[in-house]
Amino acid sequence: MDLVLNYADSCVLTPYVYPSTWPEENPFRQLISLFIITNLGGLAIYFLFGTLSYYFIFDHSLKKHPQFLENQVTREIKYSVKSLPWISVPTVAIFFAEVRGYSRLYDNIEDSPYGWFGVIFSMLSFLFFTDMCIYWIHRFLHHKLVYKRLHKPHHLWKVPTPFASHAFHPVDGFLQSIPYHIYPFLFPLHKVTYLGLYIFVNVWTISIHDGDYRVPDVLKQIINGAAHHTDHHLYFDYNYGQYFTLWDKIGGSFKNPTSFEGMGPHDYLKRLKESELSSMRNGCGDEKIPSRDSLKNK
Ligand SMILES: [Zn+2]
Ligand SMILES: [Zn+2]
Repeated sequence: MDLVLNYADSCVLTPYVYPSTWPEENPFRQLISLFIITNLGGLAIYFLFGTLSYYFIFDHSLKKHPQFLENQVTREIKYSVKSLPWISVPTVAIFFAEVRGYSRLYDNIEDSPYGWFGVIFSMLSFLFFTDMCIYWIHRFLHHKLVYKRLHKPHHLWKVPTPFASHAFHPVDGFLQSIPYHIYPFLFPLHKVTYLGLYIFVNVWTISIHDGDYRVPDVLKQIINGAAHHTDHHLYFDYNYGQYFTLWDKIGGSFKNPTSFEGMGPHDYLKRLKESELSSMRNGCGDEKIPSRDSLKNK
């Protein structure tokens, strides 16, 4: 994060914001700057990629699903925007420790223990390490002692949109982001790689809420995509993973997505439409669409 802080200092904060008597290395100034950068950066990523995904990827017919809430998009956005400043408080404390040099982040490829191979390996290990940690943190958040208090707000959205991606209770949001923050304190990681991964994980989080359930056949059993995560929102006890299905398979919580079996939200809407058309043709409204009794109302 010091790359971003240095850039903000040299381009905006030092020449235009802070008095010239306040040195850039002052810890209090660094904390204030990190708070501003974390919040503005988080909002920029959320609104930029969330809006692109909402208008260009999200299938708006999903809004006709019976479990899509009234004013859901506005509520998702409001909840996210309210939570972000609270999530940023402990996050800034970790970024501060990074900026003060306590992490294992490095500047140059020459500092990598195994050169370019080390940089590429660290990207993969970052994904596998954070996927594993988030799986267990997410399972913990589903424990009956904490679920209602911390994680239920994120499950309010049964058929989520990209804007639900960051709509978490602040404690939930921070807990699930901890693996990203502790990785560079445990393992060496290139600073630019870290920034790239930070943006990637936010975009991925948006993508698993985008309602586009397509996955190449060869990856259907490996990648945890929107189809898997939508079923997590609908059926709760399955598909806790973030990028991969690995830990759900190890932990016995993997569920083949209903949309891969012709039973997903799009299929439900299709049957609903067919049922309405058939009722209109028959002149009566008593034809029933397939029941969703299997849904738990948690
Ligand atoms: Zn959950
Ligand atoms: Zn979600």
